[in-house]
Amino acid sequence: MEQQARLVVIGAGIVGCSTVYHLTKLGWRDIVVVDQGPLFETGGSTSHAPGLVFQTNFARMMTELSRYTVKLYSELELDGQPCWYPVGSLEMAYTRARLEDLKRKLGAARSWGLEAALITPQETRDLIPILDAGKIHGAYYVPSDGLAKAVRACEAMARNAQSKGAATFYDHTTVTGIEVKNGQVQAVLTDQGRIGAEMILVCAGIWGPRVGRMAGVTIPLIPVQHLYARTTPVPELAGEIREIVHPVVRHQDYAMYFRQHYDCYGIGSYKHEPMLVEPDDILSPQEATIAPAMMDFTAEQFQVGHAAAIELFPALKGAGLTHQFNGMFSFTPDGFPVLGESLEVRGLWVAEAIWITHAAGAGKVVAEWMVEGVPGLDLREADINRFHPHALTPAYVRARGAQQYREVYDIIHPMQQMENPRNLRHSPFHRRLEEQGAVFFESAGWERPQWHNANAHLVEEYEVPGRTGWAARYWSPIQGGEHLATRERVALYDLTAFTKIEVKGPGSLGYLQYLTSNQIDQPVGKVVYTSMLNKKGRIKCDLTVTRRAPDRFLVLTGGAIGMHDLAWIRANAPADGTVQVDDVTSRLCALGLWGPRARDVLQQVTEDDLSNGAFPYYACREITIGMVPALALRVSYAGELGWELYTLTEYGLKLWDSLWEAGKPYGIIAGGGGAFDSLRLEKGYRLWGADIHTDYNPYEACLGWAVKLDKGNFLGREALLRIKEQGITRKLSCLTLDDPEAIALGKEPIFDGGERLGYLTSSNYGYSVGKHIAYGYLPLDSARVGTTVEIEYFGKREKATVRKEPLYDPEGGKLRNDEI
Ligand code: FAD
Repeated sequence: MEQQARLVVIGAGIVGCSTVYHLTKLGWRDIVVVDQGPLFETGGSTSHAPGLVFQTNFARMMTELSRYTVKLYSELELDGQPCWYPVGSLEMAYTRARLEDLKRKLGAARSWGLEAALITPQETRDLIPILDAGKIHGAYYVPSDGLAKAVRACEAMARNAQSKGAATFYDHTTVTGIEVKNGQVQAVLTDQGRIGAEMILVCAGIWGPRVGRMAGVTIPLIPVQHLYARTTPVPELAGEIREIVHPVVRHQDYAMYFRQHYDCYGIGSYKHEPMLVEPDDILSPQEATIAPAMMDFTAEQFQVGHAAAIELFPALKGAGLTHQFNGMFSFTPDGFPVLGESLEVRGLWVAEAIWITHAAGAGKVVAEWMVEGVPGLDLREADINRFHPHALTPAYVRARGAQQYREVYDIIHPMQQMENPRNLRHSPFHRRLEEQGAVFFESAGWERPQWHNANAHLVEEYEVPGRTGWAARYWSPIQGGEHLATRERVALYDLTAFTKIEVKGPGSLGYLQYLTSNQIDQPVGKVVYTSMLNKKGRIKCDLTVTRRAPDRFLVLTGGAIGMHDLAWIRANAPADGTVQVDDVTSRLCALGLWGPRARDVLQQVTEDDLSNGAFPYYACREITIGMVPALALRVSYAGELGWELYTLTEYGLKLWDSLWEAGKPYGIIAGGGGAFDSLRLEKGYRLWGADIHTDYNPYEACLGWAVKLDKGNFLGREALLRIKEQGITRKLSCLTLDDPEAIALGKEPIFDGGERLGYLTSSNYGYSVGKHIAYGYLPLDSARVGTTVEIEYFGKREKATVRKEPLYDPEGGKLRNDEI
């Protein structure tokens, strides 16, 4: 075996093989792949997955990964045998609620450009004659879905990589350790010897946490047992010599799925309490009685699902069960894969918690990321560095992993809140928010008020329009009341969850100038809104940078995305000690005080000069609020006069109480996240993760004004110059829905007649402008103001018109408070 390699890949399951295939396609050589089992039926999850592939996912990233996966599997073959059976898929509408949700799913498919349809019970039966069509209301049909032969695909991809002499695969080679020196991987230790390595890629599936730990890296996933069985021959399928003809099926209301195996049926069930397995308890290939990723079948857990299967497919009634087992595969806290390079140990790459469905796509993007430094698709939802510290604890991973298993096929509202774990992180204002009747939503472990029941009277006062049905869930008209009170009076918003990062040291200015696209070299006390770009000129982060001293900066970004942004800032920082990056989130609490009366309120409790002259828009000052020392930034994501106020956490309650008392004569209210979102949308402020991310560049996002190409070199500049020269073809556009009753929640498809133009990146009601607002990227021709397009919401087309943005206070006079 080699003693040195450029890259050692741990695991020759579908993920390892796919990534190596793509790496060698991109020209990499000198790759060693090791697996503890035999090749390619390794005994890992891939070896016994039945291989159903359903491409549609409400996350575009996942759909993109699966679309590419289908394309690649259908091109692969092994000794003339296909790796893909294009039989289509059906998701049964067993309940009316499911039928409605499938309409929403069809919308998502259309948003992402995947061909799909809703079909009648009879049409469904035509595709699967053994179905009792009387039991369903219809089905969601994706003709391009089907069945993957995963082990075959592994071997086909591995042979391809081997044939170029680019990769060598070793079976029965168990990794026992990883050598790390000065935060950089050095070697992989195996029971067959040591392999020095420049880079290591962990594709160890359910063993991932164990392997990660060898390098001191937490891979937050938990293996869960999952039940699968085959029926004995079904008389109605007698004589069938083809492996599969029927579409693969999901029966989500019973958390079941099905596929044909010649004249038998395969049944998979999630319809049982999750059975977690600690990664340390997985048996080695030598110890395992069946296969290492397999456990004994627990028949009692299969009963409810089995009965549901027979109800849907009466032909299965007479058949017995065979080939029964509990297979293990990985669940993460948020249901997304774990991809990328660890921040703690450089050179340690991870590609974990990936289904067969996404494996070819995941292999491709991870390979691109490793080779080119940037993946071809925005992977924010899968980034290994997205997890907040609590989300890496075993207890959290267990609790959330189990819930992901339970909810795998549930109808999930986009605003649905997790029930457990909750109350992990409280701001110092929590008590006061509770007194206001706050309804808390969770974000990054924080409890953040979405609206406050104490503001219920505002609904009548401002005649806030109502909502019904799906759109009314996890929503309250009080959000509208809080929005309007912010615009007309003044409101306090708890912003403590914002991520606060201090960047300091003699190299800090130069470093931030390199990392950002706007001009950061400003006088002390200036706030700058900027993007950070990747080398393709796409928007990696969106934040503000405040110069606190010549070589000290405060970087402020969102709460949920904080770890992602922090990782980017840390990963790019020079290693020579001239720049120090500290996460000061927990040290500081924050309030937004916004509204036309914000100055009146703040002036009651401070002796500092708040006038436009002394404290202009985009300025930062140290002020005192009563006895509380605070840092005030004259900025507002709500688009009103006001300040973000930061102080040490222990002063928080005092700060709140002082402002609240001072605000009473002005009708101060507590504002929540619901109002905040609609306020920012009226102002056209982009939300990172929705309106902007690395699939887009600043020119497409209409953020070119925050790019200063002439400031000197910065990350992404060269790409931006190219983009400018070539011109853009699409643009983030503001739409309003024509029908005052119409609604959209985000991610819905946008059409021009039969042509799909794009999808909504954000949507909410604008209570001040009295219109439902939506944003989405449109081809330039369709992005002209006044153009009419259509948005599909639960199968219904709604007319929408492109508007000049922002809809609210386009001159910015409210923010700058021009009259004073
Ligand atoms: P694996 O296939 O487990 O590969 C990991 C490899 O790492 C193994 O070969 C293992 O031997 C090796 N390894 C681990 N530790 C070491 C070490 N220390 N040294 C050397 N080698 C090591 N997905 C779908 O898309 N569709 C389905 O229909 C589907 N059905 C499923 C049904 C069941 C019952 C199960 C269990 C899973 C199913 N899945 C399905 C999920 C899918 O099988 C997995 O997500 C996928 O196979 C994971 O691939 P992998 O390469 O990450 O892991």
